[in-house]
Amino acid sequence: MHYIEPAPIADKENPLESMMSRFDEAVRILGVSDEMYQILKVPARQVIVGLPVTMDNGKIEVFEGYRVIHSTILGPGKGGIRFDPAVTLDEVRALAAWMTWKCAVVDIPFGGAKGGIACNPRNMSAGEMERLMRAYASAMQDIFGPDKDIPAPDMGTGPREMAWLMDEYSKSKGMTTHGVVTGKPLVLGGSLGRPEATGRGVMVTALSGMEKLGINPYKATVAVQGFGNVGSWAAKLLTEKGSKVLAISDISGAYFNENGININEAISYRDSNNGSLEGFIGASKMVAEDLLFLDVDVLIPAAREDVITAKNADKIKAKMIVEGANGPTSAKADVILNAKGILAIPDILANAGGVTVSYFEWVQNRMGFKWELDRINRRCERALKNAFDNVYEISQKHGVSMRIAAYIIAIDKVATTYKYRGGY
Ligand code: NAD
Repeated sequence: MHYIEPAPIADKENPLESMMSRFDEAVRILGVSDEMYQILKVPARQVIVGLPVTMDNGKIEVFEGYRVIHSTILGPGKGGIRFDPAVTLDEVRALAAWMTWKCAVVDIPFGGAKGGIACNPRNMSAGEMERLMRAYASAMQDIFGPDKDIPAPDMGTGPREMAWLMDEYSKSKGMTTHGVVTGKPLVLGGSLGRPEATGRGVMVTALSGMEKLGINPYKATVAVQGFGNVGSWAAKLLTEKGSKVLAISDISGAYFNENGININEAISYRDSNNGSLEGFIGASKMVAEDLLFLDVDVLIPAAREDVITAKNADKIKAKMIVEGANGPTSAKADVILNAKGILAIPDILANAGGVTVSYFEWVQNRMGFKWELDRINRRCERALKNAFDNVYEISQKHGVSMRIAAYIIAIDKVATTYKYRGGY
């Protein structure tokens, strides 16, 4: 086996810097030239727009909107639009790069992009949100395009906002253009299977990991942090495969049942309780952070970034971590998990089911044809299984973690494609 001494991991716990330190390590193992390093690192395009919007009180507020296209080497830019008070250009830049690697790992012909507006959707009316999204879509009409850059929802945005974006873009071009955005409502060219796609990918990669570790899915125990879209679908689909989910959590706390939680009941309860598990009687409440330290086979962080860090990684007892969330594990925690022999299936592989079905949505829009649900699910599962097998093979070949292997595959693919396409 070809083994390369790991580079010292910088003392960084910020998820985006953590991502860059993995990128640097993969680049070093691949032996990428300095020139190529710069090509892969520097975003292809960065756009900043000022967006004056009349608020409900009659006053005009000016928002700053960003769109960063990190790379179009593999295809048009692809990535969500984030509405959040903490959005900065730096954050959008890093998230755009993340999308480049994610699309490359699952072998879909998209580059990476991300957009964002610093605003607080929780304090905005539907009318204010609509005016802001339409102003953004209009300002970006020459950036977006089904063959140029295809946005999608991210934090603070959803199908409603994507419908406004699609409508505004279509008006500016004088023709209905479904394929300019994904994550749309079903009636507007959205895809079947999109809501569960990320959880489905988590389930597929978790089962693949269990196979490698010799864990029987019918006997496997699971803990899931975050019971939103990704966490609840992952829990539901794994339960359907025979695994037992012992613990789930959301912002209201963590819930444990040693006999296994009835996930359908938990989902119905959450949906009837304003999205919260507070008061759920199918399990008893436990200390929220302790969910991460349960003695289970599979731990699925599916809430937010930076929850497994150098401060708590040594307490983790799970045999396997499947990253539903983006950036839940810091680079320093990786070192501890690797030393403990815990298999971590990285975010850019484990949660790539979402962008895979977004790609299917775009394909359907381009064809003007709707696929059946079982076709979408089958293709999504096959894409994730193939991606897992490739990443596992490279991790064995180079003697590195699955995370570094995923970056190696992604960077190698983008760099090789660049060489074929050529530069100036
Ligand atoms: P969501 O808003 O539907 O759910 C988030 C869940 O996490 C909620 O249940 C919330 O209560 C819970 N939560 C928040 N803070 C918590 C905490 N400190 N402890 C425990 N639970 C907490 O969001 P989502 O779409 O499921 O996304 C979750 C993660 O997955 C994010 O990191 C997101 O970037 C990533 N992701 C989502 C998708 C997708 O298709 N939705 C795709 C790829 C990656």
